[in-house]
Amino acid sequence: MARAAARITSRRDAVLREMGLGPVWRLRTTVEEDAPASPEASAAAQRESAARIAPDFVPHARAVADTPETAQVVPAAHVAEAIAPPRHSVASPAASSRNRTGTEDRTRPAKPAKVVAMPDPARSKRIATLDWTPLEADMRTCSACVLCERRNQAVPGIGDRHASWMFVGEGPGSEEDQRGEPFVGQAGRLLDNMLAAIGLQRGEDVYIANAVKCRPPHNRTPAPEEISSCRPYLERQIALVQPTVLVALGRPAALALLESEVSIGAARGRSFDYKGIPVVVTYHPAYLLRNPQDKGKAWADLCLARRIVAERKRGAASN
Ligand code: URA
Repeated sequence: MARAAARITSRRDAVLREMGLGPVWRLRTTVEEDAPASPEASAAAQRESAARIAPDFVPHARAVADTPETAQVVPAAHVAEAIAPPRHSVASPAASSRNRTGTEDRTRPAKPAKVVAMPDPARSKRIATLDWTPLEADMRTCSACVLCERRNQAVPGIGDRHASWMFVGEGPGSEEDQRGEPFVGQAGRLLDNMLAAIGLQRGEDVYIANAVKCRPPHNRTPAPEEISSCRPYLERQIALVQPTVLVALGRPAALALLESEVSIGAARGRSFDYKGIPVVVTYHPAYLLRNPQDKGKAWADLCLARRIVAERKRGAASN
């Protein structure tokens, strides 16, 4: 019986590896927020848990143990070390050729970029009053930036609208543009594994949105102007969800939330502030698919976010 189960597990692991999804993110069984343990005991348990449950992360278990046990929000003055003003010189969306999946999409011919709309305070003010249904309807008919030109459909967001956790990605890819749901492609499968690793599940206390709601052609990185055009939508989603923690997946998401360019390497491992909500910055799942050696760092970032949620919930309960 045990041998059969082990065979199934190792076959499953092999299939996932074949799909490019290894090392596998496994559900962690240690629930730090329930444990009344000291920081030392908690760190030791976390190390042991990392080695036992996620052996693929063992080389990175130190990164987890080294993460401060008490989640701290970085004071505004220190944020400057990790962030720089957005480089608005990236003016033309067509100029950005990086492709998140590493594959070139040639299904639609490139068109010259149109002049990008300037910030429209009246539009932002109007969006800030919308409830979910009109908000999503507004996104679906939005033409505030060039990304509307080639979308199949806008991809508003998905999940629990009263979630403690809100994950923010970059923008829809090809599958998301077809299906109208964020993170349903290969990167989405890794995101689901990342969620499972910290005991979460899509749609259950988790809301997932993107910095831009329409697919950037060729899966290129959205331009800062496109991110700021779409920002009122993200702001409204956050205001409606009121999450306990925001997790920015990759640089464009961090730019959308912090309104500054960040280097993920410098910004990860600590917490920033978005209107009183802690923001944890980590690697985008598509990056992790290309750079699996950094999965341990992303896992540590998610553990940090989890401690923040636990601390905030404990704080709320004791008030
Ligand atoms: N990458 C993202 O950032 N968002 C998606 O929805 C899909 C892939």
